[in-house]
Amino acid sequence: MDLFVQNAWHPDHGQVDLEIEGGVIRAMGRHLVASLDVQVLDARGMAIIPGLVNAHTHAAMTLFRGFGDDMPLMQWLETRIWPAEAKLTEEDVYWGTRLACLEMIRSGAINFQDMYWHYHGVARAVEDSGLRAGVGAIFIDVAGKEQAEQFKQQAETLWEETSRYSDRVRYTLTPHAIYTVSPETLRWVAEFSEKHNVPVHIHLSETQHEVDTCLQQHGCRPTQHLANQGLLTERTFLAHAVHVDDAELDMIAKAGATLVTNPVSNMKLAVGGVFPLARAAQRDIPIALGTDGAASNNALDLFQDMKTFALIQKHADVDPTAAPAKLVWEIASGARAPIFGESGRIEVGQAADFLLIHRENPEMTPEHCFTSNLAYAATGHMVDTVVVDGRILMRGRHIEGEQEVRREAALRARALCEAL
Ligand SMILES: [Zn+2]
Repeated sequence: MDLFVQNAWHPDHGQVDLEIEGGVIRAMGRHLVASLDVQVLDARGMAIIPGLVNAHTHAAMTLFRGFGDDMPLMQWLETRIWPAEAKLTEEDVYWGTRLACLEMIRSGAINFQDMYWHYHGVARAVEDSGLRAGVGAIFIDVAGKEQAEQFKQQAETLWEETSRYSDRVRYTLTPHAIYTVSPETLRWVAEFSEKHNVPVHIHLSETQHEVDTCLQQHGCRPTQHLANQGLLTERTFLAHAVHVDDAELDMIAKAGATLVTNPVSNMKLAVGGVFPLARAAQRDIPIALGTDGAASNNALDLFQDMKTFALIQKHADVDPTAAPAKLVWEIASGARAPIFGESGRIEVGQAADFLLIHRENPEMTPEHCFTSNLAYAATGHMVDTVVVDGRILMRGRHIEGEQEVRREAALRARALCEAL
């Protein structure tokens, strides 16, 4: 036994103790006995719940949080984000990702899906923070064939090099979008994904402009274009998917691909649409929730985004029964998206990935419906303890090395943005 959790309150089973060994919950029940010398986590007064999955983000963009808000999209990208990103080093990305990991741990995320530059900067940060992540180096070939070859070579190399990390780091292919990656390269990505059984993480149909351009250039809508390149499979997850019609949703359902909604980022960047939750859920399409990068959110707190997600769905559908708390909670905890490997359940045989939250918080009182409290009243600040792979990452809201991460990330962010 590596860790013993005592006196936790399980929403389905009441008071329980848990035995954890090798990163897995080996036993759960009343009155279990801790073995000698084992680390004991006393969870009296706290609920044990699954951790959350941040299924689409660009973690190191914490460095650009608040750097140019409320600007038109292209002006923001051209005068702020792209010039700052051009100066990024692997060390910057490492510290920016460490800062994101701090924030995600403090708000209950245990697993995130990243798409960014400087792969090893992100992977090392994941390794050092203790979280789980799908890590991918952005693929773009707008500059032509030479650039495409460079990225293909890089993918081969990174795929090999990922073996230097623990299995908490999962190599993921991350072609940026259909408008920044050529059909030929998308086909190469599809083949690589199939050959090595690697997930593919891509932005899709975030704006109407993307749909219109695709129709003009390729004569079909974005989902069909992706399918034409062999990229619509059960290994693919699509971030945003705001502007998708019924025929596209049918294709996504048939292919077994996963949709990731990013409601806060969509509203902040004013994409002019709402994720089609009801139409996707009707078709049993796997669904997950993401914050997107901190530059377009500007937080990485999935509890906040869960509430926003539920509210925008109800508001848009003019239907208070849309996006009920139970569904929203299942989506946020990964239970509706098997591709990310989180069950969203605390049971024997599952990975020891969980949160402890205080039940006596005012926002959690009274307990008419615990799940409603989680979806509509809780914030990330209620998370007291985070355990991933059987290891305590935060206890009593304390994370080891937190001061250093904050200081280093703030210094680097200032240096990157100062001269722009
Ligand atoms: Zn994004």
